[in-house]
Amino acid sequence: MPEYKEPLFRPPAEADSLIFQVAYGCPHNTCRFCGMYKGVRYSLRGMEEALAEFIKSAEYYPEARRIFLADGDVMLLPFAMLKTYLVALNSLFPRLTRVNVYANGSSILDKSDEELAELKKLRLNTLYLGLETGSPKILELVNKGEKVNVMIEAVKRAQQHGLRCSVMFLLGLGGKEYSAEHVRLTAAALNEMQPILLSALRFVEVPNTRMFDGFKTVSEYEAVKELRDIIAGLELRKTIFRANHRSNPIPLEGRFPNNKQDLLDLLDAQLASGELDKNGPGMTPLFL
Ligand code: SF4
Repeated sequence: MPEYKEPLFRPPAEADSLIFQVAYGCPHNTCRFCGMYKGVRYSLRGMEEALAEFIKSAEYYPEARRIFLADGDVMLLPFAMLKTYLVALNSLFPRLTRVNVYANGSSILDKSDEELAELKKLRLNTLYLGLETGSPKILELVNKGEKVNVMIEAVKRAQQHGLRCSVMFLLGLGGKEYSAEHVRLTAAALNEMQPILLSALRFVEVPNTRMFDGFKTVSEYEAVKELRDIIAGLELRKTIFRANHRSNPIPLEGRFPNNKQDLLDLLDAQLASGELDKNGPGMTPLFL
């Protein structure tokens, strides 16, 4: 049985995956909007300890098909280390189909074309990447430490090698002041990326987040309007889209390009319904 050091996070789509922690915390940990690993000092797990856990877990879960390697930005691990882990997982879990990780633009671009191709062959599959916004200005204000053009390039290169990028953006991240810029530049960045998987989450202030000076939270209505306007600007050729995280006022799911108009119709109906809070954030989850 894998043993975990709390806090442990995984994307919603990894609910049924076998999870191993090969590192603890986030190597960046500077993003103002993210409280996930604040207070956790980043460290790599000892390789021997991790490999021993793989062997032990293979006795309990020999049929495991999907594995998620935690914690934050596991793509930053040195190539040799990632390869060692993937080789071991492939030999220990005969039915393994995919190994998924969190990634950042720069950690993907750190790997050469040959390395990306080799990782793909070893069943590295989905890279979860937080674009958050296509606005360089907002990225700087929230201390993301990544550049929009680096993330665009990273997604394109990873997908050229058959890896799937699952890209996330955050509604309301620019607050009221930068809402229009957030909408315009996020749609533009996503159109360049053409991610295979895309999800929208809403930024909600939680403990351990401290936004930039002058940040004013968008209302529930404005958050839905941002989503509607970003979707209207998307020209995606083959993308599965989800906005079903509990931070979103309206759960949505669809495929681009076929369901784009359906998504817009649903959002327009919601905006016209009078049910959305125009003065405050509306019903927000107690924790994310
Ligand atoms: S958003 Fe990602 S990169 Fe930024 S602090 Fe959180 S886990 Fe780390």
